[in-house]
Amino acid sequence: MPLDQTNMSARFAECFGHSPDWTVRAPGRVNLIGEHTDYNDGFVLPMAIDRAVWIALRPRDDRIVSVYSIDYNQAAEFSLDLIERGQPGWIEYIKGMAWSLQQAGYILKGWEGVLTGDVPLGAGLSSSAALEMAAARAMAAVADIPWIPAEMAKLGQRAENQWVGVNCGIMDQLISAAGRAGHALLIDCRALHTDPTPLPEGTSVVVLDTSTRRGLVDSAYNERRAQCEEAARSLGVPALRDATIERLEQSADAMDPVVFRRARHVISENARTLRAAQTMRRGDPTELGRLMAESHRSLRDDYQVSSDELDAMVESASEHGACFGARMTGAGFGGCAVALVRSEEADDFARRTAAEYEQKNNRTPAVYVCKAADGAEAM
Ligand code: ADP
Ligand code: MG
Repeated sequence: MPLDQTNMSARFAECFGHSPDWTVRAPGRVNLIGEHTDYNDGFVLPMAIDRAVWIALRPRDDRIVSVYSIDYNQAAEFSLDLIERGQPGWIEYIKGMAWSLQQAGYILKGWEGVLTGDVPLGAGLSSSAALEMAAARAMAAVADIPWIPAEMAKLGQRAENQWVGVNCGIMDQLISAAGRAGHALLIDCRALHTDPTPLPEGTSVVVLDTSTRRGLVDSAYNERRAQCEEAARSLGVPALRDATIERLEQSADAMDPVVFRRARHVISENARTLRAAQTMRRGDPTELGRLMAESHRSLRDDYQVSSDELDAMVESASEHGACFGARMTGAGFGGCAVALVRSEEADDFARRTAAEYEQKNNRTPAVYVCKAADGAEAM
């Protein structure tokens, strides 16, 4: 059963005996194009998906936040006056959000609620950002804090970076906070400006999880970041966002060839992402798909963050007649691919691509046909 306000109220009533004062939801996300550009001050083009983290809640008179997680069948609580780091677990995301809001000077109030979600955990659809933004929405609702998506996203990123200890960019929280139904958001990661961009009519977005995860991700991610910084330094720009392909090519001789290729990916990916947004405004799925395919090749060959399984998934997806284009999405080395497909044939695409991948790779993928949803809301 899909989650909604009615069944969240029922879940809350099972625990507390009456209806909640508030129900909040914050969605997961998938990035259509613009990969490894966020930490280069560049552009990304994610959409919020129709899977979310939900909390039904009511305020308390004291300063305790008390939450029951339906999915973990577990209760946890903490005091807003003494937030201390505990064992890793779901409550740490909520504590981190409270900590970061208080650090920013917001006066919070206690609340109690029930928590559940249908964003798959650890699948690359950013259930952690959805949980942070749901927690932020809950705390904003009870303490009467205005919902300023970019501000809340920054504080969510800070919670994830500094409290949970995961080095992520701003994209996940910002799209979860500010998404728009039927649209992706072109995000300028420097200005934190968001620009809603319509999905071409008659298209669907399908997420294809390879069911592979790699331990390498953290070290490779840090290495890529360092290479980008080195490239920006040698080009004399604050970030690769400020460089052009022409400028890079002029400097090729003075650069390490690997660093050169890393920079070529980021610079070309920023240009592709801006073009993708223009293409969407023209309603041209063919060109958007072509840009996605080009993005995959750049990530595979220049940035070298793909994997055999991701390449296989993208290849299987691209062979289907309904597919406009496909690419790996997320940090890479495993995780998900994303495809833009003709809506009418989305289910056939999902079934056949999954079957072909499974047959060739001996692994069962998870496939999600997604709709572009609104960002976090309180009802
Ligand atoms: P991802 O963000 O890629 O889904 P993460 O490891 O960053 O994966 O975040 C997953 C964690 O977020 C889970 O281990 C859990 O602690 C928390 N989380 C996400 N969704 C829920 C949920 N519905 N209920 C409780 N905790 C959740
Ligand atoms: Mg996460």
